[in-house]
Amino acid sequence: MSRAVFLSVVVPMYNEEEVIETTYRRITQVLEALGETYEIVFVNDGSRDRTAPIVRELGASDKRVKLIDFSRNFGHQIAVTAGMDYASGRVVVLIDADLQDPPELIPDMIARWREGYDVVYGKRIARKGESWFKKATASAFYRILQAMTSVDIPLDTGDFRLMDRKVCDAIRQMRERSRFIRGMVSWAGFRQTALEYVREERFAGETKYPLRKMIRLSLDALTSFSTKPLKFAGILGFMMSAAGFIYLLVVLYQKFFTDTTLQGWTSMVVISLLFHGITLSLLGVFGEYIGRIYEETKGRPLYVVAETLNVEREEEAELRERQLDLRR
Ligand code: UDP
Ligand code: MG
Repeated sequence: MSRAVFLSVVVPMYNEEEVIETTYRRITQVLEALGETYEIVFVNDGSRDRTAPIVRELGASDKRVKLIDFSRNFGHQIAVTAGMDYASGRVVVLIDADLQDPPELIPDMIARWREGYDVVYGKRIARKGESWFKKATASAFYRILQAMTSVDIPLDTGDFRLMDRKVCDAIRQMRERSRFIRGMVSWAGFRQTALEYVREERFAGETKYPLRKMIRLSLDALTSFSTKPLKFAGILGFMMSAAGFIYLLVVLYQKFFTDTTLQGWTSMVVISLLFHGITLSLLGVFGEYIGRIYEETKGRPLYVVAETLNVEREEEAELRERQLDLRR
């Protein structure tokens, strides 16, 4: 790529009008001090507020500000993916728009990269200003995920990380829809190291990750990195059949050797409720996987871009071609 820079910082945004200008300033301050060429790739994930106009204004006076404007909300992980697609840097940093991940850590990450690491991920040793519910569910989620997957996904890390170009390209090869980028980076391998940090409070505004989106992300993570729920379904089915067979013997014994057969109503109801409950929840597990298979087979692009700013024409054409290559 002709206009390649040293560092690309990817910032996904969804309704971040309250923070985005400050975020731009803080990131710029850090990057200016570095003395390397850089770009900031802002991805507007279908915000309905003034996020995009604000970035467009910033981009008018600062050509290092790129904007990828989605046609609608596609979700955080997809927004990050688009940013990685458009990033031209030798190293790529992913960071949230709300300043919960301090940009001041970027120089430390680059120092680690210079030591020879290909991935430097931020590990949260504390999380400020988040509800006990979020912290508890997040902590439980990372531990369940670790128990269920064969890929070693580090505990308590978000997407705040630095990646070498080769790692970024490896991730870009993976065009699956159910994306869990932290997991994909672990899967890709390379030399990885953690950088511990305290996750700050959100600078302004509210979380754009309501429970609904958190559940979807967890399900994406589990289903794309583990088939254990399917195996569990099989094991549970086998155990229940074994129990059912034993009870069948009991029932036959009662029928032929006692006169208490009609009393069995309660047990019938209990068994019926139990089995139906289990059957239906297992169908749900299958459904989660089948739905994802269906989504993949459609082979749609991951996102639709409505408009870009400060993205070179040739660069865009090249990207489109590469993206077609990637889908083959
Ligand atoms: N985000 C996004 N699309 C979404 C939801 C969130 O691009 O559908 C962005 C959001 O603007 C922020 C980052 O993803 O830059 C993390 O979101 P947030 O800070 O709300 O999540 P939390 O830190 O509360 O988990
Ligand atoms: Mg946040």
